[in-house]
Order: sequence, then C-alpha cells, then structure tokens
Amino acid sequence: MAYRPAPSRIIDCDLLVIGSGASGFAAAVSAAWHGLNVVVVEKHSHFGGATAWSGGWAWVPGNPLARRAGIHEDPEQPKRYLRNELGERYEAARIDAFLDNAPHMVAFFENTPSCSGQTAAASPTFTATCPVLPLAATR
Ligand SMILES: Cc1cc2nc3c(=O)[nH]c(=O)nc-3n(C[C@H](O)[C@H](O)[C@H](O)COP(=O)(O)OP(=O)(O)OC[C@H]3O[C@@H](n4cnc5c(N)ncnc54)[C@H](O)[C@@H]3O)c2cc1C
Repeated sequence: MAYRPAPSRIIDCDLLVIGSGASGFAAAVSAAWHGLNVVVVEKHSHFGGATAWSGGWAWVPGNPLARRAGIHEDPEQPKRYLRNELGERYEAARIDAFLDNAPHMVAFFENTPSCSGQTAAASPTFTATCPVLPLAATR
C-alpha cells in the first residue's frame, strides 16, 4: 500500500514523543498515565520501529515476574556480570540507578492496561565467556 502523508494540521500536546519504538512508547505511556496529553509521531508508515521486530526480551534483574517465579538473585550478581562485561566503562551510579529502578518499571507496565509480560526463568547471556550469568529476564 502506498504511503500517504497525513494532511497538515496543528495539534497541541504536553509531550511530543518522536519515534514509536519501545523507548518512545514507554515514555508516552508513562507520561499519559501521569495525566499528560501525549502525541507520538512516527516517520515510518508503521508503528513499532526495531522493537516490533525484536524478541522483546529485557534483562531486568530483580523484576517482579521473576521474583514470583522463584528467582531471587543476589543483588551483587548483576553488578559482577556488568563489571565483567563493561570493564572500565562500568559506571556505578548508572548501574545502581538501573538496578534500583528497572524492577519498578516492569511493575508499572505490568499494572498498566494493555501491557503484560512473561518470565524467562534462566535466560542465556549473549556472551559465552562471562563467568557470571545473569538470571532474570522478562518479556
Ligand atoms: C530481530 C531483532 C531482535 C531483537 N531482540 C531483542 C531482544 O530480545 N531484547 C533486546 O533487548 N533487544 C532486542 N533487539 C534490539 C531492540 O529491538 C532495540 O534495541 C530496541 O527495539 C530499540 O528501541 P528504540 O525505541 O530505541 O528504537 P526503535 O524501536 O527502532 O524505535 C525508533 C522509532 O523512531 C522512529 N524515528 C526515528 N527518527 C524519527 C524521526 N525523525 N521522526 C519520527 N520518527 C522517527 C523510527 O522509525 C522507529 O520507529 C532486537 C533487534 C532485532 C532487529
């Protein structure tokens, strides 16, 4: 089907999200949940970006789905894994922020209508060389 650009018009919003992949839609859904009027614009003829093609697996240590599945990781384990993978690029403040907040992100989307996830009990790591295996992935 031939792509036809939408007719020009002015739209007011509190937040303009450019791009409709996981990052854009995550920002849009979060902002809308907090009461903002959100517009998502997409340059392609279809929504979803690379996200729509992806496996959709997200590595989120300590996420609530994994905990309910009986996976209780030592909080130090993901840090050891990331230290091994990132070497001198390991940024403690960023890693701590990710590990502290990512489980809340999963809980938020799990409790948001139209979003759902499933647990990968023990998902393999991308690199076969790492001696420390991360556990909790969600999708
Ligand atoms: C086959 C495959 C499998 C994968 N599996 C996994 C997986 O299991 N787990 C994992 O973590 N990662 C996976 N990935 C990687 C993952 O899909 C990407 O890292 C992720 O989707 C990126 O999300 P994003 O929101 O940043 O970008 P995207 O999903 O690419 O979204 C960006 C959007 O912005 C739009 N855009 C760009 N510029 C503009 C503009 N100027 N105006 C308007 N719109 C614009 C694009 O058209 C696109 O729709 C996979 C990737 C592929 C290809």
